[in-house]
Formats: sequence, C-alpha cells, structure tokens
Amino acid sequence: MVKLKGRLFRLLLEEVRRRYPIEACGILFGYVNSDEVRIEVAVFLRNMLESEFMFQIDPEELLKVLIEYEGRGLSHIGFFHSHPRCSKPSTMDLRYMKLWPGSIWVIVSCRESRMEAYRVIDGCLEKATIVIEDDNIV
Ligand SMILES: [Zn+2]
Repeated sequence: MVKLKGRLFRLLLEEVRRRYPIEACGILFGYVNSDEVRIEVAVFLRNMLESEFMFQIDPEELLKVLIEYEGRGLSHIGFFHSHPRCSKPSTMDLRYMKLWPGSIWVIVSCRESRMEAYRVIDGCLEKATIVIEDDNIV
C-alpha cells in the first residue's frame, strides 16, 4: 500500500499540468514500514528527453538528490512521471522498472487527474493500492 497526503497529490498534478505535453518526472522519498510505503517528498527533475512519450533523468542530478534526501533520513521510494492519458507503464517504463526492482513507480495521468503505482518484484509487474489521505491527519 502506498500512502500520501492530498496536498502532495495536488502538487504532483500541478507539476504534470505545468509540463504538459512533455512528460514530467521526479524522485519520491518517504518511509517504508513493512508492506506500507509513505511518500513524503517529491523532487521534480528535468526530463532530459523533453519528450511526450518518455522521460530520462540526468544521472548526476539523481545522485545529488539521492544523497541529499537520504542524508535527511528519508528513504528512496521510487520515481514518478506523467503520461498524457493512460497511467499504465509503457514498454520502455517496464524495461527501466526491471533495473530498479522493488522501486515504486507512480504514473500520473494528466487528462484524467489520477495516478497509479506499480513495481516489479521478481520480474513481475505488480500494481500497488494508493491511499490519498486527508491533509489534516497527522
Ligand atoms: Zn511512462
């Protein structure tokens, strides 16, 4: 189960709309508790490909952000990126997901204002349940 606050979800949607039609992308940090993952922070990064169909993150930027946020005690949860419509992983996404086993991939559909979360475990694609929490719950 993947949990996040409503305000973080709205922030992701804003970023996705701002970048549209280019795919927005970024890195997610938070806390992992047995089978529950909590996303606390989304760091937006440049899509090096400036593409409407795929994204690529600068490896140097990725490393810098990983060091910075893990240094603050947060865990790297995974990645997020947007698609214009469908929030399912593309063939290209799947290829990269397999390189980050266990990592959560959040895909935001721009037109449908919704998101889905996936991960690859033992070579198989799994869909995770997303719970968007009330902003007032501590
Ligand atoms: Zn994709």
